[in-house]
Amino acid sequence: MFESLSERLGGVFERLTRQGALSEADVETALREVRVALLEADVSLPVARDFVKAVKQKAMGQAVTKSVTPGQQVVKIVHDELVRVLAGEGPADALKIDNPPATVLMVGLQGSGKTTTTAKLAKRLKEKNGKKVLLASLDTQRPAAMEQLAILGTQIGVDSLPIVKGESAVQIAKRAKQQAAFGGYDVLFLDTAGRLHIDEVLMDEVQAVRDIAEPRETLLVVDGLTGQDAVNVATEFNAKVGISGVVLTRMDGDGRGGAALSMRAVTGKPIRFVGLGEKMDAIDAFEPERVAGRILG
Ligand code: GDP
Repeated sequence: MFESLSERLGGVFERLTRQGALSEADVETALREVRVALLEADVSLPVARDFVKAVKQKAMGQAVTKSVTPGQQVVKIVHDELVRVLAGEGPADALKIDNPPATVLMVGLQGSGKTTTTAKLAKRLKEKNGKKVLLASLDTQRPAAMEQLAILGTQIGVDSLPIVKGESAVQIAKRAKQQAAFGGYDVLFLDTAGRLHIDEVLMDEVQAVRDIAEPRETLLVVDGLTGQDAVNVATEFNAKVGISGVVLTRMDGDGRGGAALSMRAVTGKPIRFVGLGEKMDAIDAFEPERVAGRILG
């Protein structure tokens, strides 16, 4: 469906004479193609513009080695810069969960994959890190969502907080904290309520829960296929609640993953995990190399 950046640049450079170093004209022509490729991969316009500017600085005057074409050279510079921007500090999947019980607050819109991701992360911590995990759903508006988390908990062999009808989200968060401390749990996941759109009620509730829960990590779950919408959601949540990282779901779909670059550039927060399917094992640590390759096509 998409023409890859390498293919595009191959065409551009066929028309250019090969010189010893990349000239300004070479770089300008190539970067027009890079910008189109980024936009096609769903990177937002201001982010694509800034990115191209940074690449230009790096590319100008670079010697073209004999073994590669100018097109390949530009692709490499773009790729390396993408990886640099996308990478966070330290390994993406290293959650701060020392000093048990550590609370991980899961936030995001309804349908983003928040509950599924909560269970996937719980399973991962249990199996990879040997952690004792407790799950609690705070979605008081949707009993089905609470039950869904409990069912997933049973499926993956992780405890969930018993559901008590009529409690507020803050009351559940308090009870979950107590249970996590008394029960000797290492990690408590709080799966907050999602709504279809960001509204004040949602944000007020998440803020109140955050103040009670004192999370070590606040992970925002966003649908990786929603492009610019995902970036807006991340910007809002980061401003109102403060997030420590992002989980991009549905990266098994055929989206190009440009949202990852925009989100990283706009919020400054690292992408920590990617969701790769509906199954409980379908989650991976975020790898900048992989997403860079995908954005470039
Ligand atoms: P929530 O409303 O945010 O809690 O969303 P859910 O966790 O209930 O997920 C909504 C739907 O998306 C479910 O059918 C999930 O199985 C599915 N889902 C979640 N994460 C992924 C993913 O990474 N890839 C795919 N293909 N589906 C996912």
